[in-house]
Amino acid sequence: AGSKADISREKSAILFEKAKKYFPGGVNSPVRAFKSVYGTPLFIEKGDGCFLWDADGNQFIDFCCSWGPLILGHNHPKIREAVISTLQHGLSFGAPTALENELAELILKNNKYIQKLRFVSSGTEAVMSAIRLARGYTKRDKIIKFEGCYHGHSDSLLVKAGSGLVTFGETSSLGVPKAFADETVVIGLNDKEALERAFAEFKEEIAAVIIEGIPANNGLLMQNKEYIEFLRKITSDHGSLLIFDEVITGFRLGFEGAAAYYDVHPDIITYGKIIGGGMPVGAYGSSEEIMGYISPDGGVYQAGTLSGNPVAMAAGIAQLSELNKPGFYKELNKKAAEFSASIQRYASAKNYKVRVFNVGSIFWIAFTDKDNIQAASDIEAESMDKYKVMHRELLNRGVYLGPSGYEVGFVSAAHSKIELEKAKRAIFESLDVVFK
Ligand code: PMP
Repeated sequence: AGSKADISREKSAILFEKAKKYFPGGVNSPVRAFKSVYGTPLFIEKGDGCFLWDADGNQFIDFCCSWGPLILGHNHPKIREAVISTLQHGLSFGAPTALENELAELILKNNKYIQKLRFVSSGTEAVMSAIRLARGYTKRDKIIKFEGCYHGHSDSLLVKAGSGLVTFGETSSLGVPKAFADETVVIGLNDKEALERAFAEFKEEIAAVIIEGIPANNGLLMQNKEYIEFLRKITSDHGSLLIFDEVITGFRLGFEGAAAYYDVHPDIITYGKIIGGGMPVGAYGSSEEIMGYISPDGGVYQAGTLSGNPVAMAAGIAQLSELNKPGFYKELNKKAAEFSASIQRYASAKNYKVRVFNVGSIFWIAFTDKDNIQAASDIEAESMDKYKVMHRELLNRGVYLGPSGYEVGFVSAAHSKIELEKAKRAIFESLDVVFK
Protein backbone atom coordinates (compact mmCIF):
# COMPACT_ATOMS: atom_id res chain seq x y z
CA ALA A 1 0.00 0.00 0.00
CA GLY A 2 1.36 3.35 -0.95
CA SER A 3 1.11 6.79 0.54
CA LYS A 4 -0.94 9.11 -1.53
CA ALA A 5 0.46 12.45 -2.73
CA ASP A 6 -0.24 15.37 -0.43
CA ILE A 7 -3.16 17.62 -1.27
CA SER A 8 -2.35 21.22 -1.95
CA ARG A 9 -2.36 23.37 1.18
CA GLU A 10 -0.95 26.40 -0.56
CA LYS A 11 -3.79 28.81 0.16
CA SER A 12 -4.32 27.44 3.65
CA ALA A 13 -0.62 27.95 4.34
CA ILE A 14 -0.76 31.58 3.23
CA LEU A 15 -3.83 32.20 5.37
CA PHE A 16 -2.15 30.49 8.31
CA GLU A 17 0.94 32.69 8.02
CA LYS A 18 -1.34 35.73 8.16
CA ALA A 19 -3.34 34.30 11.04
CA LYS A 20 -0.18 33.77 13.04
CA LYS A 21 0.30 37.54 13.05
CA TYR A 22 -3.15 38.05 14.50
CA PHE A 23 -3.76 35.15 16.86
CA PRO A 24 -1.59 33.15 19.25
CA GLY A 25 -0.52 30.11 17.24
CA GLY A 26 -2.62 31.44 14.37
CA VAL A 27 -5.87 30.13 15.84
CA ASN A 28 -8.72 30.99 18.16
CA SER A 29 -8.81 27.55 19.79
CA PRO A 30 -5.60 25.55 20.26
CA VAL A 31 -6.36 22.13 18.72
CA ARG A 32 -7.15 23.78 15.39
CA ALA A 33 -3.46 24.53 14.91
CA PHE A 34 -2.80 20.91 13.76
CA LYS A 35 0.08 20.65 16.24
CA SER A 36 -0.30 16.92 16.67
CA VAL A 37 -0.81 16.03 13.02
CA TYR A 38 0.94 16.74 9.74
CA GLY A 39 1.11 20.13 8.08
CA THR A 40 -0.63 23.45 8.39
CA PRO A 41 -4.29 23.59 9.38
CA LEU A 42 -6.82 23.63 6.58
CA PHE A 43 -8.74 26.87 6.32
CA ILE A 44 -12.34 25.95 5.68
CA GLU A 45 -14.36 27.79 3.10
CA LYS A 46 -17.68 26.03 3.23
CA GLY A 47 -19.58 22.99 4.35
CA ASP A 48 -22.63 21.26 2.94
CA GLY A 49 -24.16 18.00 4.13
CA CYS A 50 -21.30 15.73 5.16
CA PHE A 51 -18.79 17.65 3.03
CA LEU A 52 -16.24 20.33 3.76
CA TRP A 53 -14.23 22.40 1.27
CA ASP A 54 -11.00 24.15 2.17
CA ALA A 55 -9.41 27.30 0.74
CA ASP A 56 -7.48 25.24 -1.83
CA GLY A 57 -10.67 23.70 -3.15
CA ASN A 58 -10.07 20.27 -1.58
CA GLN A 59 -13.24 18.41 -0.70
CA PHE A 60 -13.56 16.18 2.34
CA ILE A 61 -16.09 13.88 3.95
CA ASP A 62 -16.19 15.44 7.40
CA PHE A 63 -16.25 13.35 10.58
CA CYS A 64 -15.33 16.22 12.90
CA CYS A 65 -18.62 18.03 12.28
CA SER A 66 -17.47 21.17 14.11
CA TRP A 67 -16.55 18.90 17.05
CA GLY A 68 -20.03 17.46 17.35
CA PRO A 69 -22.80 20.04 17.02
CA LEU A 70 -23.55 19.33 13.37
CA ILE A 71 -25.49 16.13 13.91
CA LEU A 72 -27.57 16.98 10.82
CA GLY A 73 -24.51 17.88 8.79
CA HIS A 74 -23.40 21.25 7.43
CA ASN A 75 -25.76 23.89 6.16
CA HIS A 76 -28.95 21.95 6.88
CA PRO A 77 -31.76 23.71 4.97
CA LYS A 78 -34.17 23.83 7.92
CA ILE A 79 -31.58 25.34 10.24
CA ARG A 80 -30.38 27.77 7.60
CA GLU A 81 -33.92 28.94 6.90
CA ALA A 82 -34.75 29.31 10.60
CA VAL A 83 -31.62 31.40 11.12
CA ILE A 84 -32.25 33.61 8.09
CA SER A 85 -35.88 34.30 8.90
CA THR A 86 -35.06 35.08 12.54
CA LEU A 87 -32.15 37.41 11.87
CA GLN A 88 -34.35 39.58 9.67
CA HIS A 89 -35.93 40.82 12.90
CA GLY A 90 -32.71 41.74 14.64
CA LEU A 91 -29.84 39.81 16.14
CA SER A 92 -29.98 40.39 19.87
CA PHE A 93 -32.18 42.17 22.37
CA GLY A 94 -30.84 41.18 25.77
CA ALA A 95 -34.50 40.74 26.68
CA PRO A 96 -36.71 37.65 26.84
CA THR A 97 -38.10 36.24 23.60
CA ALA A 98 -40.72 33.60 22.82
CA LEU A 99 -38.02 31.57 21.05
CA GLU A 100 -36.35 30.80 24.38
CA ASN A 101 -39.61 29.38 25.69
CA GLU A 102 -40.06 27.34 22.56
CA LEU A 103 -36.63 25.73 22.73
CA ALA A 104 -36.87 25.16 26.49
CA GLU A 105 -40.26 23.50 26.07
CA LEU A 106 -38.92 21.24 23.33
CA ILE A 107 -36.07 20.16 25.59
CA LEU A 108 -37.89 19.87 28.92
CA LYS A 109 -40.98 18.10 27.58
CA ASN A 110 -38.74 15.39 26.19
CA ASN A 111 -36.23 15.05 28.99
CA LYS A 112 -37.25 13.52 32.29
CA TYR A 113 -33.89 14.28 33.94
CA ILE A 114 -34.23 18.05 34.23
CA GLN A 115 -37.13 20.32 35.16
CA LYS A 116 -35.65 23.74 34.52
CA LEU A 117 -32.72 25.03 32.59
CA ARG A 118 -30.68 28.10 31.83
CA PHE A 119 -29.24 28.89 28.41
CA VAL A 120 -25.66 30.15 28.14
CA SER A 121 -23.35 30.62 25.16
CA SER A 122 -20.79 27.81 25.41
CA GLY A 123 -20.05 24.47 27.00
CA THR A 124 -17.37 26.05 29.17
CA GLU A 125 -19.90 28.51 30.55
CA ALA A 126 -22.47 25.78 31.16
CA VAL A 127 -20.03 23.69 33.19
CA MET A 128 -18.56 26.64 35.07
CA SER A 129 -22.09 27.69 36.05
CA ALA A 130 -23.09 24.14 37.04
CA ILE A 131 -20.07 23.91 39.37
CA ARG A 132 -20.99 27.23 40.98
CA LEU A 133 -24.56 26.03 41.38
CA ALA A 134 -23.42 22.78 43.02
CA ARG A 135 -21.19 24.73 45.40
CA GLY A 136 -23.93 27.23 46.16
CA TYR A 137 -26.51 24.54 46.76
CA THR A 138 -24.36 22.28 48.97
CA LYS A 139 -22.45 25.13 50.64
CA ARG A 140 -19.31 23.11 50.00
CA ASP A 141 -16.23 23.99 47.95
CA LYS A 142 -14.47 20.90 46.67
CA ILE A 143 -15.27 19.08 43.47
CA ILE A 144 -14.06 15.76 42.13
CA LYS A 145 -13.22 15.38 38.46
CA PHE A 146 -11.69 12.53 36.50
CA GLU A 147 -8.40 12.34 34.66
CA GLY A 148 -9.26 12.13 30.97
CA CYS A 149 -12.45 14.19 31.15
CA TYR A 150 -12.50 17.65 29.61
CA HIS A 151 -15.02 20.15 30.88
CA GLY A 152 -14.02 23.38 29.16
CA HIS A 153 -11.46 25.91 30.30
CA SER A 154 -12.82 27.44 33.51
CA ASP A 155 -10.27 27.72 36.33
CA SER A 156 -11.66 24.98 38.58
CA LEU A 157 -11.48 22.47 35.75
CA LEU A 158 -8.06 23.15 34.25
CA VAL A 159 -6.67 20.79 36.81
CA LYS A 160 -4.94 17.45 36.34
CA ALA A 161 -4.09 14.64 38.72
CA GLY A 162 -1.29 15.23 41.19
CA SER A 163 1.16 12.58 42.24
CA GLY A 164 -0.42 11.02 45.33
CA LEU A 165 -3.20 8.43 45.50
CA VAL A 166 -5.87 10.88 46.54
CA THR A 167 -4.48 14.26 45.78
CA PHE A 168 -5.38 17.79 45.24
CA GLY A 169 -5.07 18.49 41.58
CA GLU A 170 -2.31 20.43 39.95
CA THR A 171 -3.16 23.19 37.56
CA SER A 172 -2.90 22.20 33.91
CA SER A 173 -2.56 25.78 32.74
CA LEU A 174 -0.50 28.77 33.73
CA GLY A 175 -2.70 31.42 35.27
CA VAL A 176 -4.87 29.13 37.35
CA PRO A 177 -4.29 29.94 41.02
CA LYS A 178 -3.09 27.04 43.14
CA ALA A 179 -5.92 27.86 45.54
CA PHE A 180 -8.40 26.88 42.79
CA ALA A 181 -6.63 23.62 42.05
CA ASP A 182 -6.70 22.84 45.77
CA GLU A 183 -10.49 22.71 45.56
CA THR A 184 -10.47 20.19 42.71
CA VAL A 185 -9.66 16.57 43.47
CA VAL A 186 -8.66 14.58 40.38
CA ILE A 187 -8.83 10.79 40.23
CA GLY A 188 -8.71 8.10 37.57
CA LEU A 189 -11.84 6.91 35.79
CA ASN A 190 -13.30 3.50 36.50
CA ASP A 191 -11.50 3.29 39.86
CA LYS A 192 -14.02 2.80 42.65
CA GLU A 193 -11.40 2.63 45.36
CA ALA A 194 -9.91 5.98 44.46
CA LEU A 195 -13.34 7.55 44.71
CA GLU A 196 -14.01 5.89 48.07
CA ARG A 197 -10.68 7.17 49.34
CA ALA A 198 -11.48 10.68 48.13
CA PHE A 199 -14.83 10.65 49.92
CA ALA A 200 -13.27 9.16 53.07
CA GLU A 201 -10.72 11.93 53.12
CA PHE A 202 -12.88 14.92 52.21
CA LYS A 203 -16.33 13.70 53.32
CA GLU A 204 -18.42 16.78 54.01
CA GLU A 205 -16.38 19.03 51.79
CA ILE A 206 -17.30 17.64 48.38
CA ALA A 207 -19.91 19.69 46.55
CA ALA A 208 -20.03 17.54 43.44
CA VAL A 209 -18.55 14.83 41.31
CA ILE A 210 -18.46 15.75 37.64
CA ILE A 211 -18.07 13.27 34.79
CA GLU A 212 -18.60 13.45 31.04
CA GLY A 213 -21.71 11.49 30.11
CA ILE A 214 -19.38 9.18 28.28
CA PRO A 215 -15.85 10.55 28.36
CA ALA A 216 -15.11 11.49 24.75
CA ASN A 217 -12.34 14.06 24.93
CA ASN A 218 -9.44 11.71 25.56
CA GLY A 219 -10.38 8.91 23.29
CA LEU A 220 -13.75 7.32 23.89
CA LEU A 221 -13.58 5.93 27.41
CA MET A 222 -16.62 3.71 27.79
CA GLN A 223 -17.71 3.34 31.42
CA ASN A 224 -19.71 0.46 32.87
CA LYS A 225 -23.26 1.23 33.87
CA GLU A 226 -22.47 -0.26 37.23
CA TYR A 227 -19.67 2.27 37.78
CA ILE A 228 -21.98 5.16 36.93
CA GLU A 229 -24.55 3.76 39.37
CA PHE A 230 -21.79 3.65 41.95
CA LEU A 231 -21.11 7.36 41.30
CA ARG A 232 -24.79 8.05 41.81
CA LYS A 233 -24.84 6.19 45.11
CA ILE A 234 -21.64 7.49 46.65
CA THR A 235 -22.56 11.11 45.88
CA SER A 236 -26.08 10.70 47.31
CA ASP A 237 -24.71 8.97 50.40
CA HIS A 238 -22.44 11.94 51.10
CA GLY A 239 -24.84 14.75 50.25
CA SER A 240 -22.80 15.66 47.16
CA LEU A 241 -24.26 16.33 43.74
CA LEU A 242 -23.59 14.29 40.63
CA ILE A 243 -23.04 16.37 37.49
CA PHE A 244 -23.15 14.83 34.02
CA ASP A 245 -21.30 16.99 31.54
CA GLU A 246 -23.25 16.14 28.41
CA VAL A 247 -21.74 18.78 26.16
CA ILE A 248 -20.87 15.96 23.75
CA THR A 249 -23.32 13.19 24.70
CA GLY A 250 -26.40 15.37 25.16
CA PHE A 251 -28.80 15.02 22.20
CA ARG A 252 -26.09 12.83 20.62
CA LEU A 253 -26.58 9.38 22.14
CA GLY A 254 -30.27 10.03 22.10
CA PHE A 255 -32.50 13.00 22.87
CA GLU A 256 -31.95 12.47 26.61
CA GLY A 257 -28.26 11.79 26.22
CA ALA A 258 -26.15 9.73 28.60
CA ALA A 259 -28.61 10.04 31.50
CA ALA A 260 -31.07 7.90 29.55
CA TYR A 261 -28.31 5.72 28.11
CA TYR A 262 -27.41 4.60 31.65
CA ASP A 263 -30.80 5.36 33.10
CA VAL A 264 -29.03 7.18 35.91
CA HIS A 265 -30.47 10.46 37.14
CA PRO A 266 -27.74 13.02 37.84
CA ASP A 267 -28.45 16.16 39.85
CA ILE A 268 -27.27 18.64 37.25
CA ILE A 269 -26.70 18.18 33.51
CA THR A 270 -24.71 20.46 31.25
CA TYR A 271 -25.27 20.70 27.51
CA GLY A 272 -23.67 22.58 24.65
CA LYS A 273 -22.89 22.31 20.96
CA ILE A 274 -25.79 20.31 19.56
CA ILE A 275 -28.42 22.58 21.12
CA GLY A 276 -27.27 25.44 18.90
CA GLY A 277 -27.03 23.52 15.64
CA GLY A 278 -23.75 25.31 15.01
CA MET A 279 -24.56 28.58 16.77
CA PRO A 280 -22.89 29.28 20.14
CA VAL A 281 -25.14 27.79 22.82
CA GLY A 282 -24.83 25.88 26.04
CA ALA A 283 -27.26 25.08 28.82
CA TYR A 284 -27.40 23.61 32.26
CA GLY A 285 -30.42 22.08 33.89
CA SER A 286 -31.56 20.43 37.08
CA SER A 287 -34.56 19.97 39.32
CA GLU A 288 -36.82 22.89 40.05
CA GLU A 289 -35.48 22.95 43.59
CA ILE A 290 -31.81 23.14 42.66
CA MET A 291 -32.40 25.60 39.80
CA GLY A 292 -34.18 27.77 42.38
CA TYR A 293 -30.72 28.67 43.65
CA ILE A 294 -29.90 30.51 40.41
CA SER A 295 -30.32 34.28 40.28
CA PRO A 296 -32.67 36.11 40.21
CA ASP A 297 -34.61 33.45 42.20
CA GLY A 298 -31.64 32.44 44.32
CA GLY A 299 -28.24 33.54 45.46
CA VAL A 300 -26.03 31.86 42.84
CA TYR A 301 -25.20 34.58 40.34
CA GLN A 302 -25.01 33.73 36.66
CA ALA A 303 -25.78 35.94 33.67
CA GLY A 304 -25.05 36.57 29.99
CA THR A 305 -25.70 39.42 27.56
CA LEU A 306 -26.13 37.04 24.63
CA SER A 307 -27.68 34.16 26.59
CA GLY A 308 -30.78 32.84 24.85
CA ASN A 309 -29.80 34.73 21.71
CA PRO A 310 -32.76 34.60 19.30
CA VAL A 311 -30.79 33.44 16.25
CA ALA A 312 -29.13 30.67 18.24
CA MET A 313 -32.49 29.66 19.73
CA ALA A 314 -34.03 29.47 16.25
CA ALA A 315 -31.19 27.25 15.04
CA GLY A 316 -31.64 25.07 18.12
CA ILE A 317 -35.39 24.71 17.64
CA ALA A 318 -34.88 23.71 14.02
CA GLN A 319 -32.19 21.17 14.86
CA LEU A 320 -33.79 19.61 17.96
CA SER A 321 -37.15 19.31 16.17
CA GLU A 322 -35.46 17.05 13.63
CA LEU A 323 -33.74 15.01 16.36
CA ASN A 324 -37.01 14.55 18.19
CA LYS A 325 -38.64 12.81 15.23
CA PRO A 326 -39.35 9.11 15.79
CA GLY A 327 -36.56 6.82 14.65
CA PHE A 328 -33.95 9.57 14.19
CA TYR A 329 -31.40 8.15 16.60
CA LYS A 330 -32.12 4.56 15.75
CA GLU A 331 -31.21 5.13 12.13
CA LEU A 332 -28.20 7.35 12.83
CA ASN A 333 -26.76 5.05 15.49
CA LYS A 334 -27.23 1.99 13.30
CA LYS A 335 -25.35 3.67 10.48
CA ALA A 336 -22.48 4.59 12.80
CA ALA A 337 -22.38 1.10 14.33
CA GLU A 338 -22.13 -0.52 10.89
CA PHE A 339 -19.45 1.95 9.83
CA SER A 340 -17.39 1.29 12.98
CA ALA A 341 -17.86 -2.47 12.78
CA SER A 342 -16.69 -2.70 9.20
CA ILE A 343 -13.51 -0.74 9.96
CA GLN A 344 -12.92 -3.11 12.87
CA ARG A 345 -13.52 -6.14 10.64
CA TYR A 346 -11.03 -4.91 8.09
CA ALA A 347 -8.37 -4.16 10.73
CA SER A 348 -8.89 -7.48 12.49
CA ALA A 349 -8.70 -9.45 9.26
CA LYS A 350 -5.34 -7.82 8.56
CA ASN A 351 -4.16 -8.26 12.15
CA TYR A 352 -3.72 -4.53 12.57
CA LYS A 353 -3.40 -3.30 16.15
CA VAL A 354 -6.60 -1.25 15.90
CA ARG A 355 -9.75 -1.07 17.96
CA VAL A 356 -12.75 0.94 16.84
CA PHE A 357 -14.84 2.02 19.79
CA ASN A 358 -18.36 3.19 19.12
CA VAL A 359 -21.35 4.43 21.05
CA GLY A 360 -24.35 6.06 19.40
CA SER A 361 -22.95 8.04 16.48
CA ILE A 362 -19.58 8.63 18.17
CA PHE A 363 -16.60 6.55 17.11
CA TRP A 364 -12.92 6.42 17.99
CA ILE A 365 -10.23 4.65 16.00
CA ALA A 366 -7.56 3.64 18.52
CA PHE A 367 -4.20 2.09 17.75
CA THR A 368 -4.26 -0.52 20.46
CA ASP A 369 -5.03 -4.19 21.00
CA LYS A 370 -6.89 -3.58 24.25
CA ASP A 371 -10.56 -4.44 24.01
CA ASN A 372 -11.41 -2.11 26.86
CA ILE A 373 -10.03 1.38 27.25
CA GLN A 374 -11.78 2.92 30.21
CA ALA A 375 -9.25 5.32 31.68
CA ALA A 376 -6.85 7.89 30.26
CA SER A 377 -3.94 5.79 31.58
CA ASP A 378 -4.96 2.90 29.26
CA ILE A 379 -3.96 4.92 26.18
CA GLU A 380 -0.41 4.44 24.86
CA ALA A 381 1.18 7.75 23.89
CA GLU A 382 3.07 6.09 20.99
CA SER A 383 -0.25 5.20 19.36
CA MET A 384 -0.58 8.85 18.44
CA ASP A 385 2.27 8.54 15.92
CA LYS A 386 0.14 6.07 14.01
CA TYR A 387 -2.84 8.39 14.17
CA LYS A 388 -0.71 11.14 12.68
CA VAL A 389 0.12 8.97 9.66
CA MET A 390 -3.51 7.92 9.25
CA HIS A 391 -4.72 11.51 9.51
CA ARG A 392 -2.42 12.66 6.70
CA GLU A 393 -3.36 9.73 4.47
CA LEU A 394 -7.03 10.38 5.11
CA LEU A 395 -6.82 14.06 4.22
CA ASN A 396 -5.06 13.04 1.02
CA ARG A 397 -7.97 10.71 0.31
CA GLY A 398 -10.66 13.29 1.08
CA VAL A 399 -11.62 12.34 4.64
CA TYR A 400 -11.43 14.86 7.47
CA LEU A 401 -11.03 13.67 11.06
CA GLY A 402 -10.22 15.80 14.12
CA PRO A 403 -6.54 16.78 14.14
CA SER A 404 -5.59 14.66 17.18
CA GLY A 405 -5.76 10.98 17.98
CA TYR A 406 -7.43 11.78 21.28
CA GLU A 407 -10.44 13.19 19.46
CA VAL A 408 -13.48 11.13 18.58
CA GLY A 409 -15.29 11.18 15.25
CA PHE A 410 -18.96 11.90 14.63
CA VAL A 411 -21.30 10.42 12.06
CA SER A 412 -24.09 12.80 11.09
CA ALA A 413 -27.48 12.23 9.53
CA ALA A 414 -26.03 13.76 6.36
CA HIS A 415 -23.51 10.93 5.88
CA SER A 416 -25.16 8.75 3.24
CA LYS A 417 -24.34 5.12 2.53
CA ILE A 418 -22.34 6.12 -0.53
CA GLU A 419 -20.11 8.55 1.36
CA LEU A 420 -19.65 6.15 4.24
CA GLU A 421 -18.52 3.50 1.76
CA LYS A 422 -16.05 5.95 0.23
CA ALA A 423 -14.79 6.96 3.66
CA LYS A 424 -14.37 3.32 4.66
CA ARG A 425 -12.27 2.59 1.61
CA ALA A 426 -10.10 5.61 2.39
CA ILE A 427 -9.70 4.42 5.98
CA PHE A 428 -8.78 0.90 4.86
CA GLU A 429 -6.12 2.23 2.49
CA SER A 430 -4.79 4.61 5.14
CA LEU A 431 -4.53 1.79 7.67
CA ASP A 432 -2.59 -0.19 5.09
CA VAL A 433 -0.11 2.69 4.90
CA VAL A 434 0.12 2.97 8.70
CA PHE A 435 0.93 -0.75 9.03
CA LYS A 436 2.94 -1.28 5.84
N1 PMP B 1 -17.50 19.79 28.26
C1 PMP B 1 -17.28 18.84 27.35
C2 PMP B 1 -17.62 17.42 27.68
C3 PMP B 1 -16.75 19.17 26.11
O1 PMP B 1 -16.55 18.22 25.20
C4 PMP B 1 -16.46 20.53 25.83
C5 PMP B 1 -15.89 20.97 24.50
N2 PMP B 1 -15.46 20.00 23.66
C6 PMP B 1 -16.72 21.48 26.82
C7 PMP B 1 -17.23 21.07 28.01
C8 PMP B 1 -16.46 22.92 26.56
O2 PMP B 1 -17.33 23.40 25.60
P1 PMP B 1 -16.99 24.71 24.72
O3 PMP B 1 -15.82 24.36 23.90
O4 PMP B 1 -18.24 24.96 23.96
O5 PMP B 1 -16.71 25.79 25.70
